[in-house]
Amino acid sequence: MTTIILKPHKEESLKRFHPWVFSGAIARIVLDAAHKAAAPEEGELVCVESANSETLGVGHWQVGSIAVRILEFGLAELPADFWEQRVRAAYQVRESLGLVRKDNDTFRLIHGEGDWLPGLIVDVYADTAVVQAHSVGMHVFREAIAEAIVAVVPQVKNVYYKSDDTLPFKAAIEGEKTGWLVKKTECSEDSEFWSTENGLEFRIDWLKGQKTGFFVDQRENRALVERYAAGKEVLNMFCYTGGFSLYALRGGAKRVDSVDVSQKAIDLVNANVAHNFPKAKNHTAVTADAFDYLTAQKNAGRTFDLIILDPPAFAKHRDAVKNALRGYQRINAKAIEMIRPGGILFTFSCSQAVDKEAFRLAVFSAAASVGRKVRILHQLHQPQDHPINIYHPEGEYLKGLVLYIE
Ligand code: SAH
Repeated sequence: MTTIILKPHKEESLKRFHPWVFSGAIARIVLDAAHKAAAPEEGELVCVESANSETLGVGHWQVGSIAVRILEFGLAELPADFWEQRVRAAYQVRESLGLVRKDNDTFRLIHGEGDWLPGLIVDVYADTAVVQAHSVGMHVFREAIAEAIVAVVPQVKNVYYKSDDTLPFKAAIEGEKTGWLVKKTECSEDSEFWSTENGLEFRIDWLKGQKTGFFVDQRENRALVERYAAGKEVLNMFCYTGGFSLYALRGGAKRVDSVDVSQKAIDLVNANVAHNFPKAKNHTAVTADAFDYLTAQKNAGRTFDLIILDPPAFAKHRDAVKNALRGYQRINAKAIEMIRPGGILFTFSCSQAVDKEAFRLAVFSAAASVGRKVRILHQLHQPQDHPINIYHPEGEYLKGLVLYIE
């Protein structure tokens, strides 16, 4: 195997279990005899050593500023049953947290660095797991990963691979980036897939939908909306497949309006509401841009008791943070203005580059700009099946505030 030798003292973060080796930390590369090219191939396993020849771990080689992502610390090679071991450890956590139940067969099985598997995301929807590789290394091992999932998770019979949008776009990649890795039930890409979260059934469309087809990360926050919804007029902005809307309806909301710019998302919200609440007459779904919609509603003099704002990441990179904060401030100001006295705002940011203090400051500025008295009732975050590796704080991304607006 190829060995990556670090510069003196560059082993310290690895010894604290931070899983990345930056290219600037590398002193030299000793290629194994099998290599024809002058550098390791993207995605291959490499062993990392300190300047004093201490074995630090084994991981995937990458082209870019993060050169290696460690899979196993302290060993020079992966154990033969590595994938099964790791997937089993992740599954046991979900099971012990009570996420695997008859009325809840939807959960994130693998959350990248948070499950010691950098570059890998796996969401489970009833009998199907959807796998996303964010690194060429994970792509190379996709079949072993799929086999391990089926061996470990009793409910999973099929594994679908969806990595066309997540693999590094410049990388030379062999093999398909999408398609079935395992398929044991009678289904095809045209089948309807349904999955249950806390007793509510959602249609999951990972083929045409965003990410792996569903935002599992809002489960606990949706359950909190259910607790606040009774008798309220609710507006669910950026609703996607209507997660928050369904919980609000079950919680006894008087009325729920769902808004998203994507027609496909709105079709799914309507299907999900019709499936779970066939008699509901108090739900409306609108295809519209959020900013335009809020402006139009305000001009029409509408107000709400409870608004949910769950926009897509406004900042995908560090250099976009300033604009993102302005975006959060604008949209929150618009929402706060339309909340009746004594109403509630659930507001979120899923931009990893915007930390919770910066987000809170943007919401503070929004509240101040519209001159309302605002108190924080809850500070929300990503759920327990999206764990944050304490040595890899970059894994923290979702934050939210529940505000009481006077
Ligand atoms: N709250 C959702 C997830 C939201 S994801 C859930 O619980 O599942 C963000 C959503 O915002 C996506 O569905 C996307 O289509 C939508 N979106 C993006 N830009 C938008 C805009 N300008 N106006 C309205 N919706 C938008």
